[in-house]
Amino acid sequence: MLKYDSYYFQCPNCNAWLEGRNLKSELVNEAILYSDGKVLYDNLITTRQKMVLCPSCGHAFWVEDPREPFITSEDPQAAVYSWNTWRFFGINFSDNRGKLALIQHYQQFLAKTHYEPKREIYLRRLLWWAYNDLHRNFHYIRLKYLLNGFMSYGVWSSYRRMLLEGEKLFIKNIKAFNDNLHRLLVLLEKHPEEQADLELPEIYRELRQFDKTKELLEKRSSRTHFTSEILRHLRWKDARVFMVTG
Ligand SMILES: [Zn+2]
Repeated sequence: MLKYDSYYFQCPNCNAWLEGRNLKSELVNEAILYSDGKVLYDNLITTRQKMVLCPSCGHAFWVEDPREPFITSEDPQAAVYSWNTWRFFGINFSDNRGKLALIQHYQQFLAKTHYEPKREIYLRRLLWWAYNDLHRNFHYIRLKYLLNGFMSYGVWSSYRRMLLEGEKLFIKNIKAFNDNLHRLLVLLEKHPEEQADLELPEIYRELRQFDKTKELLEKRSSRTHFTSEILRHLRWKDARVFMVTG
């Protein structure tokens, strides 16, 4: 079964055709949600990539407005750069070097020019997730994930090695991580319409401002699985990103 719907668009600089993909809407419920708001399906992010580096000419551009004629679902009957050649700027995520390269891309985009708030929020949110990717699923380092037959020894031990190294890289970059979250907080507080549910309490938790997280959660009238999970991690004084549902 095809899990994605393809769409096509052209680079505004060289007119090369690129193929994009959207997860079929009926599959969104089967995806994994993380506390930072990142959603993965089959290990692929479901958020649409709005910042594109053209694989043909290297021009950076936004694909924001999913309307014809710029974006079409019709196969253009021309040579097309497949999704894999440009999504995440062609980065390979199977090791930490790829993850660091993604961080660098976002940092460079942010350093290059001034963006309107909506775009800056988008880029900073993806930068936040990219830092978290260094130690996302950190719980897998525990022996229980080997013992319960979830992974073979070979897979588990190489994944574990990558996560332990990723954790070191995360700590090494903690100042840049915090700076990004501080700036994202300022933007989201100014533009509440851009806030995702529980995004603010989660940002404070990841900044280790646990009292502020608690204060924000106590203001909410309803308790959900997500809020109880944040509270549980607060009690452990744990600031790492975690899996909410999966
Ligand atoms: Zn191009």
